[in-house]
Amino acid sequence: MFCYAEKMKKILVWIRRDLRLQDHHAMSLALKDASEVYITFNFDSKIIDQLPHADRRIQFIHDSLIEIETELQKRGSSLIVSYGDPLIELPKLAQELKVDALYFNRDYEPYAKERDSKIEQLLSQKKILVKTFQDSVIFESPMVLTKTGEHYKVFTPYKNQWLKLFQEHFPEVARFEVNLKNIARFTNDKNMLSNDWMKKIKKEKTQNVITGGRSEALKKLKKFSNHIDRYKDQRDFPAIDGTSSLSTYIRFGNISIREMVKMAVEKKSAGHEVWLSELIWRDFYQMILDIHPHIVERSFKPDYDKIKWRGSEDDFVAWKNGMTGFPIVDASMRCFQQTGMMHNRLRMIVASFLCKILLVDWRKGEAYFAQELMDFDLAANNGGWQWSSSSGCDAQPYFRIFNPYSQTE
Ligand code: FAD
Repeated sequence: MFCYAEKMKKILVWIRRDLRLQDHHAMSLALKDASEVYITFNFDSKIIDQLPHADRRIQFIHDSLIEIETELQKRGSSLIVSYGDPLIELPKLAQELKVDALYFNRDYEPYAKERDSKIEQLLSQKKILVKTFQDSVIFESPMVLTKTGEHYKVFTPYKNQWLKLFQEHFPEVARFEVNLKNIARFTNDKNMLSNDWMKKIKKEKTQNVITGGRSEALKKLKKFSNHIDRYKDQRDFPAIDGTSSLSTYIRFGNISIREMVKMAVEKKSAGHEVWLSELIWRDFYQMILDIHPHIVERSFKPDYDKIKWRGSEDDFVAWKNGMTGFPIVDASMRCFQQTGMMHNRLRMIVASFLCKILLVDWRKGEAYFAQELMDFDLAANNGGWQWSSSSGCDAQPYFRIFNPYSQTE
């Protein structure tokens, strides 16, 4: 342990899945705690180098960072972007800048938790304080517990307890104001967001990308606010633009979860209520991943690991390429290949089809989604796949199978 002065001079804020300058817990407090605050983003080479092809998500991140950089430049500052191993890049930068502390918002994925704790150790050896904050969920795992102090394993009782806590503790949804007054003023001579530099990471130009950044997220939120009342009735029809289409923006944190929940509770309608419920599913799956990290490799229910999947490779390839002969499955998968996006109802149909009709191990489908989904989020994707294969935390038994024909109707 080491001591640090109460008012720190310099703090580095590391943004990761929270690509915004508004309602940001770590940034809000850093700007209060120090007189000079720097903001950094690291392209993790361990993740990027494994990508099999040009990735739309890198483009999305790039758009989001450009917007942040433009905002910071207006205030005489700049975003510090690096590419490499975060265990090397972050400590190096913290030392170069001679910061007193590194602040960041918590991430509940196993890889991120391990990485973050290693960074904390490395920085503590250099007497640099690390502070982490709750930001991407409304309630972290230890906050929503059963009467006997255990974590919920089923969604509905979790949701009831979540709502109870929410009503008790959040008469008004919190907002972490970001006052950029104390942002460090400097000119960044390395333009890490230049097209040439980005080309090295992206390998080649990607197509059909959803534009990233907060301004796009706000446009989508505004558009959705005009039809959220109809969400309950429209959300299950892929041909209708009835959902928010915000998942990629939520995943990369262009918009905060508090801003979303605020909209969900500001009016009472069946649409608002069901939308809030979807946001609670998100918290639920984050909690499940945090508490049961084994689900990354194994079934939530251990018995389901005994299944011997028939698993024909030809069937899997046909499914991926939209060549199964089942129109709704094929249309969904071909559209997915083109856009990296899929409506929730279609995700459920194609996932059920893969595991319960083609009898292919759900992990293969999960991995393919992870590789291609714009809004890929480990907790929600794993939750969705384990729900579809019935191996997850769901009260429904294994024989729930989505019939592609009645679903089409
Ligand atoms: P809306 O219907 O407007 O919902 C609002 C937000 O709530 C979403 O943007 C999302 O953040 C959250 N949400 C909605 N449904 C769920 C859910 N079931 N679980 C967790 N969060 C939810 N969602 C992802 O964000 N990333 C994934 O990688 C992902 N993989 C999935 C895989 C499968 C097999 C299935 C069945 C579902 C998956 N989902 C995933 C959940 C859901 O399909 C998407 O969140 C949704 O389609 C996004 O569209 P939207 O933004 O219009 O959502």
